[in-house]
Amino acid sequence: MTAVENSPGTSTAQPRQVDVHNPATGGLVGSVPIDSAATVAAKVAKLRVAQSEWEAMGPAGRRGWLLQFQDWILDHAEHIADVLQSETGKVRSEAVVEAPMAADLLKYWANSAREFLADRNPKPHAPLGKTKRLTQVYRPYPVVGVITPWNFPFAMPALDVIPALAAGAAVLLKPSEVTPLSAVEFVRGWTEIGAPSVLDIATGYGETGAAVVDNADYVQFTGSTKTGRLIAQQCASRLIPYSLELGGKDPAIVLADADLDRAANGVAWGGLFNSGQVCVSIERVYVEEAVHDEFVEKLVANVEALRQGNDDRGYKFDVGALATGTQRDIVSKHVDEAIAAGAVARTGGKPTGVGTFYEPTVLTGVDQSMSCIREETFGPTIPVVKVANADEAVRLANDSEYGLSATVWTGDLDRGEVIARQLEAGAVNINDALANLFSFALPMGGWKESGVGARWGGPAGILKYCRVQAITAPRVPVQQKELNWYPYSKRNSRIAMGIMRASAARGLRKFRRGGKS
Ligand code: NAD
Repeated sequence: MTAVENSPGTSTAQPRQVDVHNPATGGLVGSVPIDSAATVAAKVAKLRVAQSEWEAMGPAGRRGWLLQFQDWILDHAEHIADVLQSETGKVRSEAVVEAPMAADLLKYWANSAREFLADRNPKPHAPLGKTKRLTQVYRPYPVVGVITPWNFPFAMPALDVIPALAAGAAVLLKPSEVTPLSAVEFVRGWTEIGAPSVLDIATGYGETGAAVVDNADYVQFTGSTKTGRLIAQQCASRLIPYSLELGGKDPAIVLADADLDRAANGVAWGGLFNSGQVCVSIERVYVEEAVHDEFVEKLVANVEALRQGNDDRGYKFDVGALATGTQRDIVSKHVDEAIAAGAVARTGGKPTGVGTFYEPTVLTGVDQSMSCIREETFGPTIPVVKVANADEAVRLANDSEYGLSATVWTGDLDRGEVIARQLEAGAVNINDALANLFSFALPMGGWKESGVGARWGGPAGILKYCRVQAITAPRVPVQQKELNWYPYSKRNSRIAMGIMRASAARGLRKFRRGGKS
């Protein structure tokens, strides 16, 4: 499907490439080159040259290109869905979400960048500072490296590339080797509208990603906690900043006063959307004893009704394939271990035997020690734990190395907020799942081992790609020299310290000279 030229230093007789397969069928759907470290360095060098003009355009100048890109994405939405479906095995209803989401992000950042990036003129901290005009300026990191995973191959680049471009940075995108074809489309769109050459792509495995980290000025990484830790170490050794969006093990808390129909519908969707391959999937459910059996009955009925298969453009199925055989094997391991330790698969519980499909699964009789509760599964499983009360639910929800997001299901919204504030998670959705993903004005970031920093959050989401510069200029006419400049003298020193003291002290100490010796 995609032909991209090979890296310099790579023999054309033996192309080094990544072959991309459709996990639903096993068929080959395309290939991309494996970019060497030298290729990555050359791409970053070119981006660096183009970036200064892009920055100089300012947010108003960049806005036009971002909005043209928005139009291109919407005009190619069906094709984009075809490509991303071919490399993920998603169902159509889920594949079609990614292009409009990218368009929405483009609209938001294009239209907000001017306000968010505007200079600030803070008030001086003391009257003495009034002699200066204080200005805080935001200047982009020249080249941002954006490294993405495979679960949303078109939306993931959009999430982070767009605010970086809007900030005035150039971007080198390194997509997952599992799903690079959608990212190729993303960059093709930018090129096809004739936009400045401030967006490029580097394809390959982890080594290519490491080369991006070696050359960029800022790294935005989304992926596993294991890789995130490696990237943090590499960034630390280069003294460059980074932001990490990592794994999760999101809890759902279902309280006895919840609307159980909504909770059972929401937990089914929040746990199984994208076959459970979402960083913020519901991966464990704590249900108050009083409603446990009724909730499980409703949840099992919902999950049993789901249709699973290879959808193409059919809109016939609800649950698609897993992105890789490795992912299916992790899911199998967690479910098999839970069952061996006494859990029960109330529905599902095994691979379908076709491609990488795994049956949507509800597990009960689960406890906190099981791998399906402790480790990220990233698959279509919903383990349910019975708890005595809300306090126990909160305690168990917080008993995790992860802290990405959580949901609380209750009939009392005030109580829901109280519980949200007790949870160690970067986001909490009350009576909803994944809702914060569609609120760009809120930050999306993980606590504990789920991340460092956050994406989005209004101004913060674009300012993170900027270096802050402080500029001072006189507000009043200035003399040839200041009182505290050379040559030093007792008189000048006394006057200067008197002024500083008057400014720094409170009460009578403002006027007393010196202190106790
Ligand atoms: P991964 O860590 O294996 O790979 C992610 C990316 O990093 C890929 O592009 C890969 O090639 C690259 N990479 C691998 N080794 C590297 C290295 N040493 N240096 C630089 N780059 C390197 O993750 P994955 O399996 O593709 O994605 C699944 C994970 O992503 C899950 O843990 C999921 O929770 C997480 N995720 C998090 C979020 C979030 O916003 N918090 C969103 C989506 C996915």
